[in-house]
Amino acid sequence: EAKALGRSRHCFYQSDMQERVLERVQLENDLRQAIVNDELILYVQPQWDSNKRMVGAEALLRWRHPERGMVSPATFIPIAEETRLILPIGEWVLRTACQWLSEWHHDADMSGFILSVNVSAVQFSQEDFVAQVQAILEEYDAPAEALQLELTESMLAHDQQDIITKMSTLKALGVLISLDDFGTGYSSLSYLHRLPIDQLKIDQSFVANIEQGSKNESLAESIISLGHNLGMEVIAEGVETEEQFEWLEKRSCDLFQGFGLAKPMLMSELLERYKHDMHSLK
Ligand code: C2E
Ligand code: MG
Ligand code: MG
Ligand code: MG
Repeated sequence: EAKALGRSRHCFYQSDMQERVLERVQLENDLRQAIVNDELILYVQPQWDSNKRMVGAEALLRWRHPERGMVSPATFIPIAEETRLILPIGEWVLRTACQWLSEWHHDADMSGFILSVNVSAVQFSQEDFVAQVQAILEEYDAPAEALQLELTESMLAHDQQDIITKMSTLKALGVLISLDDFGTGYSSLSYLHRLPIDQLKIDQSFVANIEQGSKNESLAESIISLGHNLGMEVIAEGVETEEQFEWLEKRSCDLFQGFGLAKPMLMSELLERYKHDMHSLK
C-alpha cells in the first residue's frame, strides 16, 4: 500500500513539474513574439526630492500578454535573462528611453529631469554594451546627462576590472550610474569607493516598517551615511507611507520613490502630472 501511495505521489509531482515546464516553454515562445507584436510597454515611476518635487523617473517594463493580461517583470525578466531575450528587450528599453530623452531635450520644462533605466547583468556583461549605449544615444541625439543606468549590487561580484572599465567609459559619455537594490547583493564594500557610482538605491526591504523602530532603522541609516561618505546621492525605493518619507527625509535621504508618492504609470500620465505641478508652482 505504501508503495502504491509512493508511486502515485511520484506521478503527481511529475505531472506538476511537466505542467510547469510546459508553461515555461509557452511563456518563452510568447516572449519571443512580444517585441515583434508590440506587447512591451515602458511604464515610469516618479522620483521625488525632499520638497516633493518630481526630479526624475524610473522606467519599468510591463508585458501586456494577449491572454494572460499584464505579466510582472518579476516573472518574465528571469526567463528573458536565461534565454538571452533580455538582449533585444534591453535594447528596446534603451531605445525607448533615448527617444523620450531626445524629445525632452527641446523642452525647457524638462531640463534636469533624469530618466533611470534598469540594466540586466546579462546586458552589462556584453563586450559591446557601452558601445551600444553610445550608439543609441547618438542615433536619437539624446543627452547622456539625463540618462541614468541602474545596475545591481550583485553584478559587482564579477570581473572587477571589466566593471571599472565599463563604468568609467559610461561616465566619460556623461551617463549617470545608480546601484539598485543596495544592501541585498554580495557585499562589494571593499571596492565600492573605486567605482564611479552617482547614486545608491536603498532596497525596499530596508524601507519596510522603518518608521516602527525595526532593525531596518540602523541598516537604512548606515546605507545613507555610507553613500554620502562616498560622495553619492542616496535614493529610497518602496516608500509607501508619509511616515517612511519623513523618517528618511530627517536622515538626509536625497530622493524618494514608492507607491506612497506615485505608482508606475504611463509616460503621458507622468508628463501631465509633472507639467501640472511645475506650472502650479510658478
Ligand atoms: P527594481 O528595479 O528594484 O524596481 C522597483 C520595483 O519596486 C518595481 O517593480 C516597482 O513597481 C516596485 N515598487 C515601487 N514602489 C513600490 C512600493 O512602494 N512598494 C512596493 N511593494 N513595490 C514598489 P516592478 O515594476 O514589478 O519591477 C520588478 C523588477 O523587474 C525591477 O526591480 C527590476 O529588477 C526588473 N525590471 C523592471 N523593468 C526592467 C527593465 O526594463 N530591464 C531590466 N533588466 N529589469 C527590469
Ligand atoms: Mg530599478
Ligand atoms: Mg530597485
Ligand atoms: Mg528592488
